[in-house]
Amino acid sequence: MPPQPSATTIANVTCPFCGLACDDLSISIAGGLIESRTLKCPLAERGFAAGEPATPRVRGKDVSLERAVGEAAALLSRAQSPVIGGLGADMAGARALLALADRCRAVVDHMNSRSKLRNLLVLQDGGWITTTLSEVRNRADLIVLAGTGVVSRFPRFFERCVWNPESMFSRGAPKREVVYLGRGLDVSAGIAPDGTTPQVIECEVARLGDAFSVLRALIAKQPLQCAEAAGVSLEAWGALLEKMKAATYGVVVWAAPDLDFPNADLAVQSLCELIKDLNRHTRFSGMPLGGSDGDFTANGVQMWQTGFPIRSRYARDGLDYDPYHLSAERMLAAGEADALLWVSSYDERRVPPETDVPTIVLGRAGMKLPREPEVLIPVGTPGLDHAGHFFRSDKVVALPLRQLREPIAPSVEQVATAIAAALPA
Ligand code: SF4
Repeated sequence: MPPQPSATTIANVTCPFCGLACDDLSISIAGGLIESRTLKCPLAERGFAAGEPATPRVRGKDVSLERAVGEAAALLSRAQSPVIGGLGADMAGARALLALADRCRAVVDHMNSRSKLRNLLVLQDGGWITTTLSEVRNRADLIVLAGTGVVSRFPRFFERCVWNPESMFSRGAPKREVVYLGRGLDVSAGIAPDGTTPQVIECEVARLGDAFSVLRALIAKQPLQCAEAAGVSLEAWGALLEKMKAATYGVVVWAAPDLDFPNADLAVQSLCELIKDLNRHTRFSGMPLGGSDGDFTANGVQMWQTGFPIRSRYARDGLDYDPYHLSAERMLAAGEADALLWVSSYDERRVPPETDVPTIVLGRAGMKLPREPEVLIPVGTPGLDHAGHFFRSDKVVALPLRQLREPIAPSVEQVATAIAAALPA
C-alpha cells in the first residue's frame, strides 16, 4: 500500500461561500485535497470541494491562456457597448474588473443586483438603522425573521449569531426570543438549544409590506379600517408590536433574495421606517443579510472608488449610475449590449444570462455553460486558490482569505489585468 499523505490542519480559515464569512473553519488538507465533509455547512462543503483544473477555450477549442486573453481583449476593443456582469470576485478581482471597465467604457452590474436593489434603493431614499453580526450575537433579545428561514442561504447564522453559548454581556447563553414572519418557512434552526420553539406568524410574505404599514399605524395610534394584514388579524400584529416595544435590543432580519415579489423595495422601506419608529420606544435595528457571491465586495470597491454603486457605465465623460436601465440582463435582452464579460469565481453554477452577443466567461473551474462562449477562461476561487479579501454581510469588516492549495487556475485579478494590458492603447 502506498504511503498516505499526512493531513495538515489550518485553523481560523475564512469561508467566502456566503455573506456570513465565518472565520472559524478548520480545514484539513491531505495530498493537496481539502477534506470538506467536516465543515458542517452544506455551502462551505460544496465551495471548498476540489474543482477540476480546466483549460481556456476560444470558440470551443483549447488554447493557451495568452491566446484566450488576447481574444478577450480583441472582442472587448471591438464592442461599442460592452457589459461586465456577474462580478463574482474578491476585492482585488473587483478592482481589476472596474479598471478594465474604465478602459473599455463598459457597464458594470453584479449577478445579485436585482435582489440587492430592494435594499439599496431604500438606503438611498431614506436611510436605515442597521446593526452588525457581533451586536446580534452579543445584545439581541428578540430576533424577528421577516419572510426568510435564513439557513438555506446563510446556513450557520443561528449557530454563530443566535444560539451562541455565551456573549459579552451574559454568563452562559443569552436569553433570546425568535419570531418568524411567513408561511412555509424552515423554522427548525429557530428552536433553542433548550427546546423552546420559535413563534411563527403565518402571514403572506408577498404582503409583508401591508403588515409593516399596519404595525406603523398601530405604533402611531392611527385608526385602521382593515381587519387583517397579510392574512393575519390586527390583534396578532398588535401583540407582536407590544413584544417588539418590550425588547431591550430587537433585530429584524431579512434576506432580500427571499422577498421576491413585486415592489418588494416598498416593503423593505416600510420595515425600515417601522424600525425607526420603534427606536422612539426601545433599541431596534435591521439586519439585511447579503454579501454572497462577492456582491458587497464588488459594490464596496465601486463605491469607494467612484462614489456610485454597481449598475454604472464608465462613459467617456464620467460615470453614469442608473439602477434600472443599466441592468445587464435588461440591456442584453433589449439588444443594447454588444459584448458580455461574465465573472463568477465562487460558484460555477452562476452562469451568464442567455444571450447571443459575443461572450467572455471568467468562470470557476467546472462551470457548465448552456452555450459555448467565444472565450472561456477558468479562474481560481478566492480563499481556496489564492489569497484575497471579502466583505462580510454587515459591511463592517473585509476579511482576509487564504490560499489553501496550489492554484488550479489564475485569479480574476490576474486575468482582468492581463486583458486590460492587451487592449489597444
Ligand atoms: S455559513 Fe456561509 S460563511 Fe459560514 S461556513 Fe457556511 S457558507 Fe461559509
